Amino acid sequence: MNAAIINLAYLLAVTLFILGLKGLSHPRTAVRGNQLGATGMLIAIVATLLDRQILSFEWILLGMVIGSLVGAVMAVRVAMTAMPQMVALLNGFGGAASALVAGANLVESTLPNAQLPAPLLQLTIAAAVSSLIGAITFWGSLVAFAKLQGLISENPLQVSFLHYINGLMLLVAIGLCGILALNPAVLSYYWALLVVASLVGVLLVIPIGGADMPVVIALLNSYSGLAAAATGFVLNNNALIITGSLVGASGVILTTIMCRAMNRSLRNVLFGVWVPSEAGPKAEDVYAGKVKAASPEDVALLLEGARSVVIVPGYGMAVAQAQHAVRDLMQILEKQGITVEFAIHPVAGRMPGHMNVLLAEADVPYDRLKEMDEINPRFEQVDVAIVIGANDVVNPLARTDPNSPIAGMPILDVDKARSVVVIKRSLSPGFAGIPNPLFAADNTLMLFADAREGVQQIIAALKAK
Ligand code: NDP
Repeated sequence: MNAAIINLAYLLAVTLFILGLKGLSHPRTAVRGNQLGATGMLIAIVATLLDRQILSFEWILLGMVIGSLVGAVMAVRVAMTAMPQMVALLNGFGGAASALVAGANLVESTLPNAQLPAPLLQLTIAAAVSSLIGAITFWGSLVAFAKLQGLISENPLQVSFLHYINGLMLLVAIGLCGILALNPAVLSYYWALLVVASLVGVLLVIPIGGADMPVVIALLNSYSGLAAAATGFVLNNNALIITGSLVGASGVILTTIMCRAMNRSLRNVLFGVWVPSEAGPKAEDVYAGKVKAASPEDVALLLEGARSVVIVPGYGMAVAQAQHAVRDLMQILEKQGITVEFAIHPVAGRMPGHMNVLLAEADVPYDRLKEMDEINPRFEQVDVAIVIGANDVVNPLARTDPNSPIAGMPILDVDKARSVVVIKRSLSPGFAGIPNPLFAADNTLMLFADAREGVQQIIAALKAK
């Protein structure tokens, strides 16, 4: 097919990708953004199929059927709480596909009876770079998956010499990239590069604790985009170059947002080890004799006297799948003339946008969701803040204890509300592994329950009045 038409189709596709990304930046326009992106992808796939005549359609169809089946089963079976590791796998496969396609192109063009012209230096460099980044992404993502899935220990490894070994291996891999680019016909260099890059991927991620894995996954997502962009140069495919660059850039932006929300630097995530501070207060000292347990009836009574309520969801809401019950609570309170809003912390839960996705699934209107900067100055006027399975994102130690592992992390200032109700099963710590003085504050009541059951019990108590 005419190259100009194919390139025009690609231009249209990437324009739709960019508009799609813009749409995804706000919940109200996200569905439309998704549709624009999907349309762009359809156009890109059709254009590619019309353009490429090397592979027969039977093979393409076979790949699509197998991929769709595996994807459909995973989409139905994977729990919301397992999304981060699912994303890790998807990134990893993207990286592997880029490395293999680049490698296959290299192999094919260097065969004695090659149908392709001998590769130019810039193409062999791109193939080597794609293989390097793709292999690192694949193996790094597999380790991230295994850590989050509990297949290997989540604990961080405090072996500082690993970083030196890894640095050395990365230098070897870069050297092999150069040798391969200059000698594309010697395939043993390609395989050697894949092996060394794979080891770099494993060693890069293995020392990092499960706690930091979501940030690592966002970074690996960015790598998978870079690998795809490099493969775009190998295949001389403009759509792949631009799309890979978009993924690479958005992955870096997401990584930066997550690091900021956790008050960590990327260097600290990749090379530091985050362990609970020994210097911080002990749970016994924080809680002893100060925690007030409440019944669902006590909470219902408190809510009946309120005019404004802010719900603060966290990881526990995701674990308990309490979002539908939470929506019911919102509706009942609103019927009684109470204003209900949701305070959303950027790293509440275990992946960016975790709470937004759950609340959207339960049809909570977007305009009730307030970001941290918007809601924080208003907490003093809030009658009751209901914290549902959140812990670190409402821990005042972030403001008061400079030795705390979460020191400086921006938090939701729930403790400033007139009354606070916390629904969780026990006084167990959250992700950061530290006690939370909010649970022992004068204005806090603890409802010890599973998030869904607790909210349902409050609803029952409100209805019984
Ligand atoms: P936390 O991990 O701080 O706390 C979650 C709390 O939920 C626990 O204390 C637990 O207490 C409670 N819980 C668990 N299961 C249930 C249940 N079934 N019913 C009720 N409560 C339950 O969660 P936050 O959302 O406050 O904070 C997120 C943390 O994750 C932050 O430290 C953040 O830095 C980190 N993080 C987040 C990422 C993201 O992208 N969102 C990425 C990387 C890290 P109990 O066992 O007593 O019930």
